Amino acid sequence: MRILVTGGAGYIGSVITDRLLEAGHSVIVLDNFSKGHRDAVAQGATLIEGDLLDSKRVLDVLARERVAAVIHMAASSLVGESMTAPERYYRNNVIASLGLLEAMNESGVKLMVLSSTAAVYGEPQKQPITEADPTAPSNAYGETKLTVERAMFWHHRAHGLRYASLRYFNAAGATATRGECHDPETHLIPLVLKAVTPHAPHITVFGNDYPTRDGTCVRDYIHVSDLACAHVAALEALESGKLSDSIFNLGSGTGYTVGEVLEVSRKVTGKTVPMELGPRRDGDPAVLVASAQHIRDVLGWVPTHSSLEEIVDSAWRWMSGHPC
Ligand code: UDP
Repeated sequence: MRILVTGGAGYIGSVITDRLLEAGHSVIVLDNFSKGHRDAVAQGATLIEGDLLDSKRVLDVLARERVAAVIHMAASSLVGESMTAPERYYRNNVIASLGLLEAMNESGVKLMVLSSTAAVYGEPQKQPITEADPTAPSNAYGETKLTVERAMFWHHRAHGLRYASLRYFNAAGATATRGECHDPETHLIPLVLKAVTPHAPHITVFGNDYPTRDGTCVRDYIHVSDLACAHVAALEALESGKLSDSIFNLGSGTGYTVGEVLEVSRKVTGKTVPMELGPRRDGDPAVLVASAQHIRDVLGWVPTHSSLEEIVDSAWRWMSGHPC
């Protein structure tokens, strides 16, 4: 298939691009490089610099590149930032995605995989979270992704779009060739690993008064390779007609506290992690752990690299070879 990956120069998009190429697909990456890196895009992909908000350009890419399916990764994705600049999230996530959907409809592109998020659930009533649980985002980031999911549903109903929305829990880890390099970095695992290097700032733990086993937030960390495999499986199932309008959680099913991440990082690096306690971060739910049963049942997807040790170890190897 000829697949457009929006945001394919980003951390997760670059790993997905690698996996799609390995699976024999043709990949066109569209990225505005607001966050992505040129050298993160595999040689075998066609790289196009452009912005999703430029609808003429998107239409042109879909037609010229004879795109059959879209994996839509391009988005603003920081919970904290979304609480102070929601307008950016509505523009980059909602408006840009609606433009993409319109362009796809106009061009007859009927298959789409969306990079969505566990943040759509807000403060869940129970754990682990299933796809049938209520959605009530507690931050603007989650709200904007939920809006895009709903737009895909109505495009499915009205125009026959076939889609899968993949609700990521906490993507982390690295492959041998791709890893995380954000500016600014806000994610826990890379910040913790940076904190053990000389002259780096210590890690601030955002609150220790949550109702969890050590008072710090619990998250479900999922290896970026496992995430990428799920995208390929979802897309191939859409193509074969096995899926039409589906939502899947992408998590390992196991939650770890921030304190446990610090402890595993200490073991992996052999160094003490300099840390201090700070206040809670606005918009952070106490616990987010996935039930990944649905995607296991439907697509046979099972995470194979998502123990916390393997995630942290792979991230540490990446960071040691690619200081950023
Ligand atoms: N976190 C933290 N200090 C940091 C960054 C994150 O204590 O410097 C916590 C954060 O409150 C959350 C968890 O680590 O409970 C994971 O946060 P991250 O930003 O990596 O991902 P998110 O859960 O926001 O998608």
